[in-house]
Amino acid sequence: MTMPTGSDPVYAANGYDPASEMLWTAQEQPGLTSGHPYERDQVSQGVRAAQGPSALRLVWLYPDLLSTYGDRGNLIMLARRARLRGLAVEPIQVNSDRPVPSQGDIYLLGGGEDLPQVLAAQRMRAGGGLAAAAANGAVIFAVCAGYQLIGSVFGGAEGEPVDGLGIIDISSGRGEQRGVGEVLADVDPQLGVDQLTGFENHQGVTSRGPGVKPLARVIRGIGNGDGTEGAYAGRVLGTYLHGPALVRNPGLADLLLTWAAGPLPPIADGDEAWTKRLRAERLAAVSA
Ligand code: GLN
Repeated sequence: MTMPTGSDPVYAANGYDPASEMLWTAQEQPGLTSGHPYERDQVSQGVRAAQGPSALRLVWLYPDLLSTYGDRGNLIMLARRARLRGLAVEPIQVNSDRPVPSQGDIYLLGGGEDLPQVLAAQRMRAGGGLAAAAANGAVIFAVCAGYQLIGSVFGGAEGEPVDGLGIIDISSGRGEQRGVGEVLADVDPQLGVDQLTGFENHQGVTSRGPGVKPLARVIRGIGNGDGTEGAYAGRVLGTYLHGPALVRNPGLADLLLTWAAGPLPPIADGDEAWTKRLRAERLAAVSA
């Protein structure tokens, strides 16, 4: 873990180094194990060497179309929790004008408004990279619009059915009312993850085919619209939760890391202080 360099006390207390979060953008036809597959993200500052094939490749997909309510925090959280376990991490940002590389370890998709969501689905379908990654056994974590578009079909801006990527057997349409607000949900006990806290804002409702399990049972909020929240099958997991979801729910972040990298040691209490504090605040706000 890189030692904190920022003067921000939150960053410092959290062991977080903003300079370590620089992203690399996939070039036109990235071969993730070749010599120089990435160019520096224009918003990045400083220099970071590509870490090679042993690094955990975290691929953040289409943030120019899909990233609402701080979804980028999911990437930061995964990178931080991996590094605290001594794992090298290679964050890769892929904007929507680039093909999706198929050799990543964990893919992240965020939420989005209706039209960007349709555009993202069309481009990802045409490129085929994410479907190939899923077929290779990559971990996929998808939020809200991203969750809907990895399924078979979802409702477009006027409610019309739009083809998704068919990576997980779920179908989404438009519900009668928008789900907006805080969510609490009890996670499938098989996953060993604490109660979920998050924020939702969506019109879509989602149903599952056989072989797909609900991620959680809703205690408060709308989620999938049938009393359940999110879905998972194999190493593909989707949720309606923003917040960002992995920042509010570090157990979910660790589940994804475990799927990608195997069993992980616990994180020292001192490195969990801010994570626990945020989680406690959000849970208290819902029950107040
Ligand atoms: N456009 C989708 C819906 O309203 C997803 C919204 C979101 O990602 N927050 O259902």
